[in-house]
Amino acid sequence: MPTITRHRPFPMEAVPAWDGAADVIIVGFGAAGACAAIGAAETGADVLLLERNAGSGGASGLSGGEIYVGGGSDAQRAAGFDDDIGEFEKYLLAAGGPCADADKCHAYAAGALSHYQWLKDIGVPYRGNYLPGKHIEPVDDSTLIWSGSEAAAPFCDIAKPAPRGHVIQHMGWGGGRPLVDILEQRVRDLGVRIACNVRVAALIADGEKIAGVVARIDNRDHFLRAHKGVVLATGGFAFNDAMRAQYCPQSLSLSDPIGDKDDGLGIELGMGAGGRAIHMDQFFTTCPWTMPESQAYGVFVNVAGQRFINEDCYHGRVTRTAIDQPGGRVYLLLDHAHFSQPLDLARMDIAATGADWREVESELEMVAGTLSATMDFYNHHAREGRDPLFDKRIPILTPLDKGPFVALELNFARSYCSFFTLGGLHTSDMGEVLDGDAMPISGLFAAGRCTSGLPAWGHGYSSGLSLADCTFFGRRAGHAAAAT
Ligand SMILES: Cc1cc2nc3c(=O)[nH]c(=O)nc-3n(C[C@H](O)[C@H](O)[C@H](O)COP(=O)(O)OP(=O)(O)OC[C@H]3O[C@@H](n4cnc5c(N)ncnc54)[C@H](O)[C@@H]3O)c2cc1C
Repeated sequence: MPTITRHRPFPMEAVPAWDGAADVIIVGFGAAGACAAIGAAETGADVLLLERNAGSGGASGLSGGEIYVGGGSDAQRAAGFDDDIGEFEKYLLAAGGPCADADKCHAYAAGALSHYQWLKDIGVPYRGNYLPGKHIEPVDDSTLIWSGSEAAAPFCDIAKPAPRGHVIQHMGWGGGRPLVDILEQRVRDLGVRIACNVRVAALIADGEKIAGVVARIDNRDHFLRAHKGVVLATGGFAFNDAMRAQYCPQSLSLSDPIGDKDDGLGIELGMGAGGRAIHMDQFFTTCPWTMPESQAYGVFVNVAGQRFINEDCYHGRVTRTAIDQPGGRVYLLLDHAHFSQPLDLARMDIAATGADWREVESELEMVAGTLSATMDFYNHHAREGRDPLFDKRIPILTPLDKGPFVALELNFARSYCSFFTLGGLHTSDMGEVLDGDAMPISGLFAAGRCTSGLPAWGHGYSSGLSLADCTFFGRRAGHAAAAT
């Protein structure tokens, strides 16, 4: 019998006997897998959903349940933001930066409002109100927040700013679990067959076409036939150290992967079948340094005392750019008026204090005239309401010139920098897995963080983009698989 491996499909002619069959087999019961199952089942297909855990969830069930929606939702309009589809698409493209998939950005910009309506129709509750300020997730049950860099340069000059983070009505953090529960209910209502404690180990190929999966159930291999297609929805690879070292080595400076097991299996299955993985070096990371919010008025410098970003942009963009700096750490500089004790969770310690910036510079053992010159330059222009280097905008642009002063250390080895991977299988906007020539692999589909999707570029990530991608393109992948 041929070896059962993730690295190449098992030949169908060697299957000893089929242990089961469905039109469409979905691998993974997070948000992407649930929506793929719904998309397939809504066409009338017989769908089998396989999950290695004891139940649904994955990273999606641990998440905040925030979904990036633009173009003029009810909550946006009620709060006085006249977002439109064109501006929304421009932002999606800018957030994807050099990795943006123009087809996916276009499809999502055009379909986001009806997708949001669909979420409401299946029972996802939204309170409908707007919560101003900088939030990682709402601490109450509010709906609409600024969840990216929309109001900061260069994004605010590319697309008209509007808040687009739409959060399920849920008290506090952790709206992902109720979101997945609602998706699961829809999956069950549509009659999808669900099998948990089932780990898919390989794909099965009938010549060039993917025709099923090999699944481990009760320590025995089961051969499951997919008449129409297989949808991979297995999440990213944040917990697979070997894959991180091979594809995403910059993430090795961080020690707080978030998600479920995220072992990259779906990506390897897809690659083994001839699929191409793209943007594998991209990752999201953030330290909750904007909590309390007053810290956002601070200035970040690297170990050379140089600024590197406009600090008014999304906390994840700041953190991701910080990781690019030399020396394994950066400092957040604050004055007396804006300093508050950081969250314990952030693990950001006070590295230096001083009556003036020269004293802080000396305590940090920086070369004399570096950090102090940075702050003289910054304060001089901030008094005029300008930031000629990085275009930070008022009101967050404010002089930090009344001591005492403090430098908080964001140390990549010690501080809390959560991260997950963004690279994955190259898919069409219908979820087809594409090969090196951008041609679909027959019978193979994928969605969510085992693909590269809307959240493609770590420096442009905005909260809500991942679940937007999982739910929207998950449905399309399921639909396309069933239509094969
Ligand atoms: C704490 C936290 C907060 C977050 N908040 C947000 C947010 O508010 N908004 C947002 O957009 N993003 C958020 N994210 C990111 C987002 O949750 C994930 O990127 C997204 O949920 C990934 O969904 P997925 O369906 O691709 O993978 P998952 O939800 O991880 O689902 C994959 C499933 O596949 C299963 N699986 C894997 N391998 C196999 C196998 N071999 N056989 C069978 N089953 C398998 C796994 O067990 C898992 O259940 C957050 C993440 C975390 C951890």
